[in-house]
Amino acid sequence: MDTITVKTSSRVQFVDITSYIRRIAEKSGLTDGIVLVYVPHTTAGITINEAADPDVVFDLNNKLSQLIPCEGMYRHAEGNSDAHIKASLMGSSAQIIVSDSKLVLGVWQGVFFCEFDGPRTRKVHVKSFLC
Ligand code: ZN
Repeated sequence: MDTITVKTSSRVQFVDITSYIRRIAEKSGLTDGIVLVYVPHTTAGITINEAADPDVVFDLNNKLSQLIPCEGMYRHAEGNSDAHIKASLMGSSAQIIVSDSKLVLGVWQGVFFCEFDGPRTRKVHVKSFLC
């Protein structure tokens, strides 16, 4: 298993980690299989979406913030319930097919680490599986 360290600089931030995943997959020597990308945090997530136009991630973040505001009728005393909810919506993992030693991603797709309670130093675990 490999681990990527992601340092975020704001409370909510989408970080494109595609190049790191690609490097780990290449280093593993995996020719055909699956790469599992996993976030071991309760207020951060992973999503695969468009990496070509940064406005897509801006809109995603903006809409999430409208739907799930920081302030609200939450019970969780830590004051970051919105971050927990957004993290669950994004999910804590993504799986990417590896074929002929390459990540099978669409032309416009990228893998994003989603920070919802930063700034923090976070971990992303990556494990390759032969299939
Ligand atoms: Zn909390």
